[in-house]
Amino acid sequence: MAEAKISFLGKNTIICPVCSEKFKKEELLSGGGRMNAGILTDELHREYNATEKFGNIHPLIYPVVVCPQCLFSAYMSDFESIETEEVHSLELQTSKRIEEAKNLFPRYNFLEPRTIIEGILSYSLAIMSYDLLESSHQPIFKQGLSALRAAWLCNDYHKIEPNENFDYLRDIFYRKAQFFYREVIEAEKDGREFYEDIPHFGPDIDHNHGFDGVLFLSGLLEYKYGPKQNVKARIDSLTNAKITVSRIVGMGKSSKSKPSDFVENARNLHGLIKDELVKLGEEV
Ligand SMILES: [Zn+2]
Repeated sequence: MAEAKISFLGKNTIICPVCSEKFKKEELLSGGGRMNAGILTDELHREYNATEKFGNIHPLIYPVVVCPQCLFSAYMSDFESIETEEVHSLELQTSKRIEEAKNLFPRYNFLEPRTIIEGILSYSLAIMSYDLLESSHQPIFKQGLSALRAAWLCNDYHKIEPNENFDYLRDIFYRKAQFFYREVIEAEKDGREFYEDIPHFGPDIDHNHGFDGVLFLSGLLEYKYGPKQNVKARIDSLTNAKITVSRIVGMGKSSKSKPSDFVENARNLHGLIKDELVKLGEEV
């Protein structure tokens, strides 16, 4: 049976600012019963149930634009607004991007419809590319978001192919996400990055949880995947997470932008962090 179509190529031709390659972006076809929304996980990730006609759909494999030639990768608004200086350093990194891609997945193909493999790779390449972009592109936040989404996709792949070590790769991406989300909180405080003009914080594509969602995830990732090698590191990490999450909880009442179940989740997380700190002998 031929597989039902789940994506199409966008009308607009994209020109890569780094290597001038012309290509079209693959987009998800979301209508016609393709999307059967499932649960929202504790990490604010929307799961989709498989349907008989379309099978499993992974909307997260499409948002990052990847040049099929030089593998420069970024979210659309950044892809199209790269400055000359950035082009230069991205050019210098081209062979490194290609080498890294081949190391990770020897058989990727960005000229065919994407699979979960190209989805994971798109985020990994985005993390590399944003390393070279100016703060006006909010690279720390975009790297955190990309690492978190890559971890989710690795988890999806691990469910399909449990013997291919994608759980190992997933945990690497979770640790990267934890690092970047912690950095976002610092970057917001010290003014390295400004977040007012980000239209969609995600973390998933179906709902925008705003900067409160970033605060929540920063705390949650620290709690779940933060450093645990010794008690002192754990205490430091949890103390940091507690302060971050209390910025949501402390504001108290729910509002339209802060639905009550979100505030409730944040309060629960705050409680879990406090409990563990008490167990570790801290006064909270
Ligand atoms: Zn290119």
